[in-house]
Amino acid sequence: MTHSSSDQAHRLAELERLARRLDPDDLQRRSDGGRVMDYAGAYLDAVDDAPAYQRSDDLAAGLLDHPVAEEGVGLERALDLIERFVDREGIGTTSGRFTGYIPGGGLFHAALGDFLAAISNRYAGVFFASPGAVRIENQMVRWMADLAGMPDSSSGYLSAGGSGATLSAVVTARDAHGIEGEAIPRAVVYTTEHVHHCAEKAMRVAGLRGVQWRHVAVDDGYRMRPDALEAAIRSDREDGLVPWMLLASAGTVNTGSIDPLDALAGIAAREKLWLHVDAAYGGFFLLTDEGRDKLAGIQRADSIVMDPHKTLFLPYGTGALLVRDGQLLQQAHGGDAAYLQDTESTREEDSPAELSPELTRHFRGLRMWLPLQVFGLAPFRAALAEKLLLARYFHSQMAASNTFETGPVPDLSVVIFRLIGDDERNKRLIEAIQRDGRIFLSSTRLDGKFMLRMAAVCHRTHLADIDTTIQILHELAADILIQS
Ligand SMILES: *Cc1c(COP(=O)(O)O)cnc(C)c1O
Repeated sequence: MTHSSSDQAHRLAELERLARRLDPDDLQRRSDGGRVMDYAGAYLDAVDDAPAYQRSDDLAAGLLDHPVAEEGVGLERALDLIERFVDREGIGTTSGRFTGYIPGGGLFHAALGDFLAAISNRYAGVFFASPGAVRIENQMVRWMADLAGMPDSSSGYLSAGGSGATLSAVVTARDAHGIEGEAIPRAVVYTTEHVHHCAEKAMRVAGLRGVQWRHVAVDDGYRMRPDALEAAIRSDREDGLVPWMLLASAGTVNTGSIDPLDALAGIAAREKLWLHVDAAYGGFFLLTDEGRDKLAGIQRADSIVMDPHKTLFLPYGTGALLVRDGQLLQQAHGGDAAYLQDTESTREEDSPAELSPELTRHFRGLRMWLPLQVFGLAPFRAALAEKLLLARYFHSQMAASNTFETGPVPDLSVVIFRLIGDDERNKRLIEAIQRDGRIFLSSTRLDGKFMLRMAAVCHRTHLADIDTTIQILHELAADILIQS
């Protein structure tokens, strides 16, 4: 060995010694893994009594005192920072008394699936790289497509959420109908004022800022009126415009309303519109008898978005897109490169990378597959049927009180209501709810009025949580009524 190569060996040994810290041995894995499991266990044991909302004065700014540094602080200290600054403050999305926005929940076994996916780090982008992982991803997509009644030609992928899936749907519909250049300002999108704002965002991101929007009139349940849609299309054709896309909601955020999908699908077919159904929140109610009735017609959609991180109770970061004609999805998202040439040999299954904007991606399928395999569908069906009943129960209890007034009987599990009186009084109620913290509800605007919403979605929301919610709402309302 020359002098310099022994220097080199010495240096390599030194680097290796440090680098190996990244790869703990069995003893350390057991100790750190056990510590994390203890932490998670303590968190979950406290969930029943934990606040649904909590806020401090410094808003987790203490984290800024702990920048990334050359020397680590160790697991114990890191867990302490998570406990103090991350896991207490803000919305308690794991609480059964969190009924604001569209809750999720986060199944324990989904977390275990995530852990395993991260440990083996299977490459779920390309079939060649991990046939098993890609089969799981595609199996989850197929299961949802079957649930929605889409044909064998359909395809899709697991996205990070509903917004990303909606962007892919818009891009696919754009390319399928050649909406580019001069076609853009003549293309018309039909929806209602209750459409999720991610649709408008998706259009802009897809380069379609210039398309025309029609907010079609709704009925007294906030569902799109087919007659008003037909009239709008007729009038646009007379004006030389090109009706292009129909964005139907299968469960709006505001009220959980479902547009009349079957009637809309008939119009879309006649008028050659791309029918997109936003079932981010409502889609999994297809697992219930009642949901299947209300969502009839969804199988006729050209594209559907569903959010397993909402009504399948998975942790955040799991959405899904289904496209009736899988070829169109691939045409809009496929890509090729010389450095991927070795992956071409195995093509028995579609690769998510050819159907989505992502190449290297989180193996999301495992967090969905594991709970479905472990528990089967029965408890999911029960949890969703329970949420529908809880919402109806909450609605009838609130409607029967002299203190509150309610919106329509809910299509799904979102109930709209307010304290009898003006907007100001209801804003004060929301503020009181947030100060109190035992429950969390959010508000919206409907027909120009400030309204409160109760969304029963979290898998931990059961009858006792709804009763507690009703009782606390009455308590806080009484305080406000005494003051005013
Ligand atoms: C949540 C939601 C979205 C957006 O999905 P993200 O997963 O939050 O990106 C779109 N539409 C509806 C109806 C939703 O409830």
